[in-house]
Amino acid sequence: MKNKLHILSAKQLRDAFIEGSFSAQQICCYFLDRIEKLDPQVGAFLAIYRERSLEQAKNLDEKRNLGAPCGKLAAIPIALKDNLHVEGEVTTCGSKFLTNYRAVFNATVTNLIEEADGIIIGKTNLDEFAMGSSTEHSALRKTVNPWHSECVPGGSSGGSAAAVAARLCPIALGTDTGGSIRQPAAFCGVVGMKPTYGRVSRYGLVAFGSSLDQIGPIATTTEDIGLMMEVIGQHDPSDATSLPIHGGDYIKELVKSDIRGKKLGVPYNFLTNLAPEARENFDASLKIFENLGAKLVPVDLDILKYSVATYYILATAEASTNLARFDGIRYGIRSKNAKTLDEVYDYSRRDGFGWEVKKRILLGTYVLSSGYQDAYYNRATKVRVKIIDAFLKAFEGCEAIVSPTTPTPCFPRGAIQDPVQMYLQDLYTIGANLARLPAISIPSGFNKEGKPWSVQMIGASKEDVRILEYAQAFERAVPFFSSIPKGFE
Ligand code: GLN
Repeated sequence: MKNKLHILSAKQLRDAFIEGSFSAQQICCYFLDRIEKLDPQVGAFLAIYRERSLEQAKNLDEKRNLGAPCGKLAAIPIALKDNLHVEGEVTTCGSKFLTNYRAVFNATVTNLIEEADGIIIGKTNLDEFAMGSSTEHSALRKTVNPWHSECVPGGSSGGSAAAVAARLCPIALGTDTGGSIRQPAAFCGVVGMKPTYGRVSRYGLVAFGSSLDQIGPIATTTEDIGLMMEVIGQHDPSDATSLPIHGGDYIKELVKSDIRGKKLGVPYNFLTNLAPEARENFDASLKIFENLGAKLVPVDLDILKYSVATYYILATAEASTNLARFDGIRYGIRSKNAKTLDEVYDYSRRDGFGWEVKKRILLGTYVLSSGYQDAYYNRATKVRVKIIDAFLKAFEGCEAIVSPTTPTPCFPRGAIQDPVQMYLQDLYTIGANLARLPAISIPSGFNKEGKPWSVQMIGASKEDVRILEYAQAFERAVPFFSSIPKGFE
């Protein structure tokens, strides 16, 4: 086992550390070396914190050797998406604009992870400002899908998902505004969870769509997702939208995970356009749920056909407001050609942002502008309420809702040029963001070309533990933990 630490789950690594089989420094070194050796093939990382993490590991070893109790994430190497702050380190958001920005404070999740003795080993690549579904919009690095090197890892948390899939670290954090944890997790054959909005503090996350953004874990097992949720799912007074509730005893609840007799809602009508290959995998997943003793019931979520349009009004409106702070004065690289104040704003933003980000700012500004606000923004907020109502109604008759995570498996780099086709990647994931519900994506097999498929479960508000429990029941029937992409075994 000594030369194969990467095949262990996060929980197993922690146990090995607590038992004394390995020191934190050994574990940390092992993963840092592995990243150094293999990441050039994957492109998952934007920064590697060698010294910082080895220092933490050393302190942790001393703590353990003194017999002091160690935290829930003790000695687990963890990567953060590079839109989360680590004090003193650069937060790029995958943008050229912020390559000089050093965070002046820790994100709450950073503090919680470190208080639990987790070791943050680096930051991962993303679509610029988390806008995208393939990580192709990163201005800084190309990330490949470890399963198929010509394919994208999904996005926007593509670096986090690829890092976990290639076993460069057992857990990474992502962020999900419209599907950015679940879709890349699905493309990379790993588990990804978007908690209930407000469950995880957004303090120290660079905002994209503030009413939609959530931080969540990507890992290779549902148990590791639970472990991370126990640590980061805490109320935080620094985030005004943080839920005033206790995080939840995920691991304890998971021990008795059971799905027998539970009703799972299937939005059959909304799924009529599924491509045959996607349908085949989804039907097989439904069969597995039935064999596990769950009962499938139809639910009406037809309104979700408006979810992508609604999202691209609300998310761009919020993004255009949130991104106004990047002006080349307080944040971001200032254009050298600017001579007047207006030119500082104009040229810095022109040179700093990529075209996808500029497009979103333009769209968001348009839908909020006087004369159009009623027609677009205000109308979209009304549709959002209807979507929330439809979910509430659906949950009167079931405990969780099942759908595919994505309409297609991972696609080759450059294959989707039409932005609307790219936006449709999130057709099944966006609903949970609009309704602020918890949702999880778990691997459900491979297609003929060896590309991973996944199934998504959406829970009622604050039922994060429940969907994780059902996902774990599924995981037991479809064990995917030991599937490791070729070249990374
Ligand atoms: N793909 C969606 C978008 O481009 C969602 C992104 C996200 O969840 N951060 O906006």
